[in-house]
Amino acid sequence: MRFFLVISLALIVNIIMLLFFYRRLKDKKSEVKLQREEYFEKANLLKADLEKEWQVIGAFRQKIISYNQLKVLVEKLSVSMSLDDTARALCREVSKLFGHGDSTIAVYVFDQHTGELGITCAERNSKVINIRSKRGDVFDRWVMKTLQPLYLEDARNDFRFDMDKVDEEEVRPVRCLLSVPLMVHNKPIGILRMDSPVPDRFSKEDLRFFRTIGDVAAVAIENALLFDRVEELAIKDGLTGLYLRRYFLERFDEEMSRHLRKEKEMSFVMIDLDHFKKYNDTFGHAAGDIVLKSLAAILQKVFGAPGNLIGRYGGEEFCVLLPECGPKEALELAEHLIKRVEEEEIVLRREKTHITVSAGVASFPLSARTKEDLIEMADQALYQAKRKGRNRVCAL
Ligand code: GH3
Ligand code: MG
Ligand code: MG
Repeated sequence: MRFFLVISLALIVNIIMLLFFYRRLKDKKSEVKLQREEYFEKANLLKADLEKEWQVIGAFRQKIISYNQLKVLVEKLSVSMSLDDTARALCREVSKLFGHGDSTIAVYVFDQHTGELGITCAERNSKVINIRSKRGDVFDRWVMKTLQPLYLEDARNDFRFDMDKVDEEEVRPVRCLLSVPLMVHNKPIGILRMDSPVPDRFSKEDLRFFRTIGDVAAVAIENALLFDRVEELAIKDGLTGLYLRRYFLERFDEEMSRHLRKEKEMSFVMIDLDHFKKYNDTFGHAAGDIVLKSLAAILQKVFGAPGNLIGRYGGEEFCVLLPECGPKEALELAEHLIKRVEEEEIVLRREKTHITVSAGVASFPLSARTKEDLIEMADQALYQAKRKGRNRVCAL
């Protein structure tokens, strides 16, 4: 009996101990579960922080890439001097930066003389291309009117633009577009644009970078315009826009050596205004300047074919070099000039005035075989025309 009592007691103690350990185990289990959840939460927070850090690092990396690309662009632009070279380098670098074979990159710049917007360079897939809308299209006009950048994800879904008109102006399909005005001292000097036939080709992020490129490009284009202007001033006369005598004679030398090699015909014409002193005395020096300008415009119309050179030889004397042109054709052209000038009405303070010119023609190899002799012969022919009563052409 005592034995059973002891056994039962031991069993009860064991059960109580088991129950106690079971409780401890359960408590420990929930404690571990709680800790596990805490760790998971912490891990999730760390993961989110890490992702954020990665995003920041990614953005920094992208910025470094962009800055490096900008650095290359600035270097390329800084070695280009003329407008043509600068616009070409700009198109090439933008093409490399955004790198879509279907995108067209175009640079439009305001003409220094006419003030009109005109295409300077257009490129697609690293090749210079011909663009139909030489003076810009409806998008360019919008940019020039608002002086704001333009980003179109898909031009067909943009209510601001009449796509029928766009299709009329431009043969290449334009769906996605980035365009920025090139501004210097708050004044527009042109447009840099990139378009693609694929909708959503460029992103808003691209526009941000494109704007920065536009800022850099504007300064480069402005410098190129100044460079071209200085070059032009060194070779062209400020009043008439014709070549200065020194530059004309340099080009004459080049043509002469070419013709001596080829033994081809070439003609030289000297032109002088008749009684211009009297005209100046009657109407004033400023009126005389208007006459010189009008005559320059007529000379351009009559002799302005590609390859011909027109210069202001000095004062009221002009000279024209006609490569590939024999004495007969040169004489005909000069006679046409005499007629055109005679018919021209120059209106001064509502008064119609007229002028006439005399011209002398000499040809290579018929009249002379050197530059100096050609000039001398043309001068003599001009003198003859003056002596014979002016308003005429003589040839030697
Ligand atoms: P001819 O028919 O014999 O050539 O007579 P001309 O009066 O034209 O010739 P002359 O050589 O006696 O006079 C040339 C005049 O051209 C004198 C000068 O005042 C004028 N002249 C030269 N350069 C300019 C210029 O840049 N502007 C103006 N307004 N006149 C000029
Ligand atoms: Mg004269
Ligand atoms: Mg003269």
